[in-house]
Amino acid sequence: MSTPSGQCAVVVGGSVAGLLAARVLAEHFRQVIVIERDALRDAPLVRTGTPQASHAHVLLQRGRRILSELLPGLEEDLLAAGALLLDFAKDVAWLTPAGWGVRYDSELPTLSCSRALLEWAVRRHVVRLTGIHIQSGFRVVRLVERQGAVVGVTIRAARCSGDVGQTLDAELVVDASGRGSAAPQWLQALGYPRPSETTVNAFHGYASRIFRAPSDPARDWMGLYLQPKPPSMRRLGILMPIEMGQWHVSLGGAERDYPPTDDEGFLEFARSLRSPILYDAITAAEPVSPIYATRATANRVRHFERLSRGPAAFLVVADAACAFNPVYGQGMTTAAIGALLLREHLRASGSTTVSRAERAWSARFQTRLAAINRVPWMLATGEDCRFKGSEGRRLDLELRVMHRYLDRVVALTTHDPAVRDVLLRTFNLLIPPSRLFHPSILAKVARQAITLRSISLTDRQDTQNMHTGDVSLAIMDTFTRRRAPTDGSSPASGTG
Ligand SMILES: Cc1cc2nc3c(=O)[nH]c(=O)nc-3n(C[C@H](O)[C@H](O)[C@H](O)COP(=O)(O)OP(=O)(O)OC[C@H]3O[C@@H](n4cnc5c(N)ncnc54)[C@H](O)[C@@H]3O)c2cc1C
Repeated sequence: MSTPSGQCAVVVGGSVAGLLAARVLAEHFRQVIVIERDALRDAPLVRTGTPQASHAHVLLQRGRRILSELLPGLEEDLLAAGALLLDFAKDVAWLTPAGWGVRYDSELPTLSCSRALLEWAVRRHVVRLTGIHIQSGFRVVRLVERQGAVVGVTIRAARCSGDVGQTLDAELVVDASGRGSAAPQWLQALGYPRPSETTVNAFHGYASRIFRAPSDPARDWMGLYLQPKPPSMRRLGILMPIEMGQWHVSLGGAERDYPPTDDEGFLEFARSLRSPILYDAITAAEPVSPIYATRATANRVRHFERLSRGPAAFLVVADAACAFNPVYGQGMTTAAIGALLLREHLRASGSTTVSRAERAWSARFQTRLAAINRVPWMLATGEDCRFKGSEGRRLDLELRVMHRYLDRVVALTTHDPAVRDVLLRTFNLLIPPSRLFHPSILAKVARQAITLRSISLTDRQDTQNMHTGDVSLAIMDTFTRRRAPTDGSSPASGTG
């Protein structure tokens, strides 16, 4: 680690993104102060500021790798605290829209635990680092600006409603205060424009509960994911094993098909999923928590990168800048990717504080962050568009063709471990989605297509409206649509 060149940086929000930002800022600032609204306790608890921790969280592979890189020993601590290491491809029975995903031995070990445990472990690691101090029980109420640069924040005890605040000086302020961030209002109060926003909403709702997992030697899975199958089936179910021999179960419904929060309704919703496997599992399990619900699931990006004017020395990261529909499990991982970007951006500015004090430096960061958020955004909103009731992104021809192609790829993943591996790696943000168009996969999709014989008249009509390049995909789709596998009631074990 190089010698810090800056005096003090302030991070707003002490959740996953704020802690990871603090971790990398500590390489460049003698002091990093994290302001967290909640009064934090040294225990893995769901707190008011992170209500999403009541819902099942999956840490994608890319996120896991970055966390291990930034916080060596974290994974060992989590395992010691009861987290489990799963083979994502083998241990999670996954009902795709085309049927059960083939299960195989992969190199995708996944850490499974509650979000509360994960955040607590991250916090314990981060506070041990030199120069980092978490001031909990205080909220940031405004930015302090001088001559076009943010030079600090005003904080106030979270329980205090008066106008008296205390000012903290900082050379850089990083906002990691989540979906509800007040950054647009703070900028406006200083005379800057608010960032424009793009929202794509499939109106997903979640209801979640923790169960004590009963032992069952015959069970051949550790986790379950029952995907929806739009447009006909809007419901999903996730069951992930977490510490203390428990299951974290989340049910979800798109297009406002919200899961109920009463005992009976929750079970009925589970029973209505595409396979009875999750329902059967939880009816045999003892609930150990209330049922929690959320509807805060819209994909929403605030375009800080498009601001015509903004202050220097102020950055906005993670959910505060771009929040995703949580169904795709991308939030913590994109926060981690953003932390790596912040480190790179700080390193590129060298040991001087001069460039950090220039507006262009902050603007460039937001532009780079927007660029790396583009892939997860495309994945999440592209899938959300499959729901007819989605708002915010047009289901245009290009996207329809893409859906058809992906449907064919997903159909292959029910029996082809090599294709499933590529899909899982894409989903885990390890490789770019373009790998799904690798010639080997295109060839398999084509082969799947030419084993069938005819094109129906209606489908021919579809192809007439497409560009030449799209026709082959449409034809493949036409050929294969009629033999799409039906859902099974039990997950297939693969050959690997
Ligand atoms: C239902 C649901 C399920 C999810 N599932 C997954 C999943 O499976 N995998 C995944 O990777 N992600 C998932 N996510 C997203 C994930 O929780 C977040 O992306 C992740 O926590 C990173 O968020 P963050 O740190 O930016 O913000 P948050 O976690 O929301 O934290 C913001 C913090 O800022 C504090 N704060 C707010 N305002 C102020 C202020 N003015 N002053 C001081 N402090 C303030 C809050 O108290 C809070 O601690 C899910 C989200 C939801 C809603």
